[in-house]
Amino acid sequence: MVLPDDFYCRDDGDRDVLRTTAALARGFAERAPAHDRDGSFPHENVAELRAAGYLRLTVPQAYGGGGAGVWRMVLGQERLARGDGSTALAVGWHLYTIGKQAQCPTWPKEALERVFRDAADSGACINAAVSEPQTGSPSRGGRPTTLARRTDRGTWVITGRKTFTTMAPELATFVVSATAVDLERTASFLVARGTPGLRVAETWDSLGMRGSGSHDLVLDGVEVPDSALVEPNLQQSAPDAGAEVRGGPSAGWNLHIPAVYLGIARAAADFATCYAVQRRPNSLQGSIAEVPHIEQKLGEMQRLLLPAYNLLFTLARRWDEDPPARAAMGGAVSACKLVVMDAVLAVVDLAMRIVGGAGLSRKLPLERYYRDVRAGLHNPPMEDAALAALARQAVKQMEAELVAR
Ligand SMILES: Cc1cc2nc3c(=O)[nH]c(=O)nc-3n(C[C@H](O)[C@H](O)[C@H](O)COP(=O)(O)OP(=O)(O)OC[C@H]3O[C@@H](n4cnc5c(N)ncnc54)[C@H](O)[C@@H]3O)c2cc1C
Repeated sequence: MVLPDDFYCRDDGDRDVLRTTAALARGFAERAPAHDRDGSFPHENVAELRAAGYLRLTVPQAYGGGGAGVWRMVLGQERLARGDGSTALAVGWHLYTIGKQAQCPTWPKEALERVFRDAADSGACINAAVSEPQTGSPSRGGRPTTLARRTDRGTWVITGRKTFTTMAPELATFVVSATAVDLERTASFLVARGTPGLRVAETWDSLGMRGSGSHDLVLDGVEVPDSALVEPNLQQSAPDAGAEVRGGPSAGWNLHIPAVYLGIARAAADFATCYAVQRRPNSLQGSIAEVPHIEQKLGEMQRLLLPAYNLLFTLARRWDEDPPARAAMGGAVSACKLVVMDAVLAVVDLAMRIVGGAGLSRKLPLERYYRDVRAGLHNPPMEDAALAALARQAVKQMEAELVAR
């Protein structure tokens, strides 16, 4: 890209994260073709992230973590994704789950402390298992068909099936949503790997993000203690009723998703640019980079990437530095993901056109980038829901303005 690599580094801490992730991404890029071909999970990449201390990036400093905010997480995630989108997406869910609980805790203190310590001390990974075959995307408000029943021993027994559980082969803790029969509402439980009745069904065999291990999770009478129930937080007296309408008090952490897809598209743009500079067919005096229609496409990729990066980092910075502004930022964060998705889909398409027929080859990484970005459409927020929410917000604001005039 035309901006220098460290353009978004504010300080030495950012430069450290960029150096670490850039070095790791080189190894990830070498392994990515094999994991993509086999649909295997890149455990060795996670081991390297763990050894580098990256898995504690968003854990609060008081627990031995990096205490990173959204900006630094986004910086690292974009850089990792240039090496391997699947690994970056997987680790992004872990950083996000911890970061948003660190900034805006909704779980009981003991559960939070355990998760923070496990991540800081041993790089134990966590992610949510919320999607289901019958419910689809949980963002649409469907009740989980996974059921949790309280026993007379004071424990909970959970039965159901989850889909799209990213990083399932590596997770130490699954945040499982279920309909708590006794509470008559949706609840979340922390379920540890190895709990009897819990198993990963290796079903993930998709067009893109093939190395993300987004398998099914099967819960067959999984018994957990009452302390595993983290949401609703029964220790909290007043839940924040307006949070959902405003996009949630932790909406900014969702920026880990556009960061990953931007990283993949950037890798595609860099690859196509490098290819164009080096490709010298004997019908030309120089490289294809000098051909007018290729030049236009190379410029167009930059034109699409620059504002997408700018929006991502502008929102990340504002989120970190201006807590009072967060309440109004949910819509903008959702819009950022849509803007980024439009840009990255266009960029990988241009990159394929620039490279030509060779871009179809499995020997080159471009066709993988092309497939991987497609998955972003199906990560939250979903486009139609985000547009409807934006429209409602705009209309509501206009109505308020008209009344005030
Ligand atoms: C790479 C990847 C990683 C993921 N990781 C995770 C993860 O770690 N944990 C997790 O829980 N989930 C994860 N997901 C799942 C994701 O969040 C969605 O649940 C999943 O993509 C299915 O959502 P959907 O809207 O496409 O499907 P569905 O909900 O089945 O919808 C199918 C179609 O119908 C439309 N539709 C359905 N219901 C409605 C409605 N009520 N109103 C309007 N339109 C509707 C949708 O727009 C869509 O076009 C992941 C998905 C991907 C692709």
